[in-house]
Amino acid sequence: MLDPRRRYLEQLLELGETDLVLEREQGQEAERQNGSQTASPSVVASPQKTEADHTAAPVKVKPKAAGPVVPLPAGISVDAPGGGDDLFAADPLRQCGTVDALVPVIDACRKCQLGSSRLHSVPGEGDPRAGLVVVGEAPGATEDETGRPFVGRAGQLLTEILKAIGLAREEVFICNVLKCRPPLNRDPEPLEVAACSPYLHRQLELLGPRVILAMGRPAAHALLGSNASLNELRGRVHRYRGIPTIVTYHPAALLRNPHWKRPTWDDVRIARRIYDGERV
Ligand code: URA
Repeated sequence: MLDPRRRYLEQLLELGETDLVLEREQGQEAERQNGSQTASPSVVASPQKTEADHTAAPVKVKPKAAGPVVPLPAGISVDAPGGGDDLFAADPLRQCGTVDALVPVIDACRKCQLGSSRLHSVPGEGDPRAGLVVVGEAPGATEDETGRPFVGRAGQLLTEILKAIGLAREEVFICNVLKCRPPLNRDPEPLEVAACSPYLHRQLELLGPRVILAMGRPAAHALLGSNASLNELRGRVHRYRGIPTIVTYHPAALLRNPHWKRPTWDDVRIARRIYDGERV
């Protein structure tokens, strides 16, 4: 005689209730397991088998019929761009394994209008193993002419500031938030910062310095995602992706307001202590 439980399951299957069958089967399995867990520890779990259990063939669940294949609209692909396994495999910045490798990528960039108005891109320069990275705002006229960061008047002052804490320019890495000069040295626009900051983030990831010196508000904002004033940001140690970050005045601001030099020396001395290994 056909086992009544098996007959019931087969009826459900005929009605297309495969989910219900599965739920029932899973529920019974869970019950069996619970029963075995609560059994006396001296008893090896061995579920009671009925005659029907021995004789009934396992119930097979019919898969639901696949739905109709809907063609994708033209231009839509279900594969990751570039055919890679993940979306980031084809990211040109990920493929740059050194700061030098970023230079031609930055030079070819036309993601914002500054790529067309500048003379030279200014990716940054210095020791790729530097313990300290200086981040400024954007290249000025001299930087645009030479393709090198901080080489105008503000740059000469930066060289002096670094010397005051015992560091030569060549020992650190110097770069900017924007890699191209804004016309007439106007402030960077938010879209320009958004387009350019992935280069800065990748540079910092590849450099992995012990300390970052953010010079001026735009640098601090790009790194820390804050909108606070420079005065609020100065005088404490921030973290950029875990790296201690000191915010101070931009050298160009010091040229206009020499009385800000003293607090700047205080800030850079803190940066030097972290550079020397002081834990913060
Ligand atoms: N100001 C900056 O912020 N960066 C430079 O490279 C030069 C001037």
